[in-house]
Amino acid sequence: MASFLERVPLFAGLPPADCAQLEQRMPRREFAPQTVILREGTPADAAFVVLSGLVAVRRKDPGSGIEFLLAELGPDQMFGEMGLLTKKPRTASVVAIEPTTCAVLDRPLFEAVMRSLPSFALSITGALAERLDRANQHVGVEYLNLSRVKVDPRVLTLLPQALINEHHVVPVAFCNNRLTLAMTNPNNVVAFDDVRRIVKGVLIEPVVVTDEDFKRFIIAVYAPAAAKAEAASAPAPKAAPRAQAPSSAKGGSATVDLFTSDIIRELQLAADEDISEAETKQDLMSASEDAPIIKLANSILGLAIKQGSSDIHIEPMEQSVTVRFRIDGVLHVVQQLPKKVQLGLMSRLKILSKLDISEKRLPQDGRISVTMEGRAIDFRVSTVPGKWGEKVCMRILDKTNTSLGLDKLISHAPTLALVREMIAQPYGIVYVTGPTGSGKTTTLYSALAEINDPGVNISTAEDPIEYDLPGVTQIQVHADIGLTFAAILRAFLRQDPDVLLVGETRDKETAHTAVEAALTGHLVFTTLHTNSAAVAFTRLNEMGIEPFLVTSSTIGVIAQRLARRVCPSCKEPYAAEAETCRFFGLPDGATLFRGRGCTACGGSGVKGRIGIYEVMRMTPALRAMVGRGARAEEIHAAALEQGMIDLKRYAALLLLEGQTTVEEVTSVVSIDA
Ligand SMILES: [Zn+2]
Repeated sequence: MASFLERVPLFAGLPPADCAQLEQRMPRREFAPQTVILREGTPADAAFVVLSGLVAVRRKDPGSGIEFLLAELGPDQMFGEMGLLTKKPRTASVVAIEPTTCAVLDRPLFEAVMRSLPSFALSITGALAERLDRANQHVGVEYLNLSRVKVDPRVLTLLPQALINEHHVVPVAFCNNRLTLAMTNPNNVVAFDDVRRIVKGVLIEPVVVTDEDFKRFIIAVYAPAAAKAEAASAPAPKAAPRAQAPSSAKGGSATVDLFTSDIIRELQLAADEDISEAETKQDLMSASEDAPIIKLANSILGLAIKQGSSDIHIEPMEQSVTVRFRIDGVLHVVQQLPKKVQLGLMSRLKILSKLDISEKRLPQDGRISVTMEGRAIDFRVSTVPGKWGEKVCMRILDKTNTSLGLDKLISHAPTLALVREMIAQPYGIVYVTGPTGSGKTTTLYSALAEINDPGVNISTAEDPIEYDLPGVTQIQVHADIGLTFAAILRAFLRQDPDVLLVGETRDKETAHTAVEAALTGHLVFTTLHTNSAAVAFTRLNEMGIEPFLVTSSTIGVIAQRLARRVCPSCKEPYAAEAETCRFFGLPDGATLFRGRGCTACGGSGVKGRIGIYEVMRMTPALRAMVGRGARAEEIHAAALEQGMIDLKRYAALLLLEGQTTVEEVTSVVSIDA
């Protein structure tokens, strides 16, 4: 029988005889499910090779005490070896998920073998050099062979299959907000944009795959799953990557954080009174009225608020239910719940959202209103039918959000003055552009808050209504009943408005009505989905708006992005690399800042967010260019000549002020720079 060590990459270069000899000297240890095999922070005294079973690698977030899942390892995978080499304390905990057997390589044996088997030392050196090489290659775009990598099925579910097929991309790894995206065309800018729209704020590291490789992968992953669903009796073909969801917690104790959490005492559910509505759905009701289920649902909502999350994702997998929170734009796995809670939890959330709990095949939208510590907070809930059951997404709308205020968002005084001058105009349109999740709405609300006084009639058409603005008429878009942005806008015009906010301009009708409103003496604020200010004109042109209408109605365009701030508690200066200075036009050896990682920021070195702005005020020269249909690049260049600060230069200012990090701004401005 071949030695198991031959299948472990770290030992791959070792002669089979040496593998067998070493294997003899490694004792076996058995771990029951939930046993902690090694604990974060303790000294590293051994490495382990999984012979059978499954383990989870987890790292604790010191802020909340919540453990985040980093990886799951199965047979022939190894853990703990870095500790033996670095002699530093463990950086993560490893817990058995299933009954697991490991072969143990302790430090005395490791060191003895290093001395007695030169082939082992060489093999390890080779494997480590390869790891280093892989890490270095991430700087440029590298080639990837999809059949050689194990794609975590949860990473695969980050992107919908339709998007994967459309752009020929495969999400292969996700760690520290970095998504490794295998692409047949790494210059596909639209793909980057679409991926960021779904995984908000993610840093994308493209790797190149061939067309054939992509097709083989898709067939291997999706065909067996479909076949399996069709004919449960037929054995599914063996897929190269792990196509199925990982087997996960069998008992309930993996859920201990959420089940035992008692932070929710203050959380009052406004929807509680309405539970009787669904009394006919007896089975679902009894499942959802279970005390642990109620507690679990409350824990999820309360914890998400406490952690400052913007979204909650609850996704059934084949054998578990994944709970993820989006915090500062990044999705974190909070917990894998056992499959058996799925029905009750989903029903409970649907009851709270006043949805039909028996309808599982159609998407539904609802809302949960809660108060926590005196704050009114709404969850906008949507359900979609998924392969392993309904998926629930909840957007958290904190209506008492106190982060509004142009001066809080725009730290650069001349830019702030320019924006204030633009919103003080009596009529015309101010466009705010940027990808989804770039903070456009916050900027618009802040602008409205500045001009909101009893003498001004302000009306908004929004989807969704994210903040309450006293004294402002706010209307929710309901496209399904014909209440579109354009329809609301036309109705407003008969209501003697002064200022109108149109949540998003995405079609000709809305764009046209907004222009009309501006030209008839109204001040209009709206958003467009473009990457830079100058491209707004191209976009309007594509929507069929005549250039002369654009030039006569536009006050200016604000492009924006959000970057995460350096954590103030662990911020430290360093001398910037020459390449960074060149890219951002900084003086040589400029002092920049980064976060070391501390308990305040959960080890990430970043905390909270800051805006990056590019404000293009219309001038006679720019009007003339837009009027004759000049290209976006020409308009951008002309605006720069007239003193506009673009996203990249604004980012450079923030870097020099120590507000954010190179890593953060590179991810948000590199595409269009
Ligand atoms: Zn920190």
